[in-house]
Amino acid sequence: MSRIAFIGLGNMGGPMAANLVKAGHSLRVFDLVPAALQAAQAAGALPATSAAQTLEGAEAVISMLPASKHVEGLYLGEEGILGQVPDGALVIDCSTIAPASARKVAQAAGARGLAMLDAPVSGGTAGAQAGTLTFIVGGEQAAVERARPILQAMGKNIFHVGASGAGQVAKLCNNMALGVIMAVTGEAISLGVAHGLDPKVLSQMMAVSTGRSWATEVCNPWPGVLENAPASRGYQGGFGNDLMLKDLGLAVEAALAVGATIPLGEVARNLYAMNKQAGRGGLDFSSVVQLVTDKLG
Ligand code: NAD
Repeated sequence: MSRIAFIGLGNMGGPMAANLVKAGHSLRVFDLVPAALQAAQAAGALPATSAAQTLEGAEAVISMLPASKHVEGLYLGEEGILGQVPDGALVIDCSTIAPASARKVAQAAGARGLAMLDAPVSGGTAGAQAGTLTFIVGGEQAAVERARPILQAMGKNIFHVGASGAGQVAKLCNNMALGVIMAVTGEAISLGVAHGLDPKVLSQMMAVSTGRSWATEVCNPWPGVLENAPASRGYQGGFGNDLMLKDLGLAVEAALAVGATIPLGEVARNLYAMNKQAGRGGLDFSSVVQLVTDKLG
């Protein structure tokens, strides 16, 4: 079992840290939000008063922060903790950030003789709680093998997709598809409802037909169709609109960097930006359906 420093205990990081404790790892944790730190302490982790304080004796360092600027801020620069990470420790960033940012931090870690992986996740808050996340990993093979027993305590699928930054590229590809599929699923159900169809029956039919997806089967955007979906609890919890907007912005940047064309991804980025402007940035991203119907919200 490993001594692990865990930084960032939000919707995802909190339950991930709790699962590491459950698996028998010894955790020192930090978050800027005191309530998040207290919840992790209740789950059996040792709270620290700063990110640097989590590092004492750490064999692995895991971060789960919102965006590129937070990850670069945590590790790099004068305030950054990279210089204080114990020799030989493995650094794993699970946040979804720009591939270029992931490479920059991994290079700085490499210059210090530390192995670093980008290991963003898929599976949402439910997957984080259940320990069934998919890890999408970029970095050296040897580091992936070292990380495997730790990642297995938080997830059930581990994909090594390439060198440093590749995990982030693959994650953006997945989320771009998800963003488009969610928006068009909402449009389709809204069209059916406008013609007098029952959204539940329509969704049940789609869920076993060729229009099926995670959006019809697990996170249906129409309230009342699936009891456990964010749509049925006022779009609270789940995967925030602002996080999807961030990921689609990163996908657009990644496309520009290599001259790729992503017409639907760019439209979807605008839809989630409009949903934010309508005041739903903090709600689950499936609330994007409200852009096309006046029957909700
Ligand atoms: P969140 O906002 O709930 O949690 C982030 C946490 O990081 C917050 O508690 C915040 O206080 C903390 N934090 C920020 N800067 C810090 C610092 N310098 N030191 C210590 N703590 C700091 O976000 P989340 O939903 O947990 O998502 C985290 C990452 O995972 C994001 O990159 C997101 O895109 C990705 N992700 C989220 C989901 C999801 O369903 N929520 C799914 C897959 C991936």
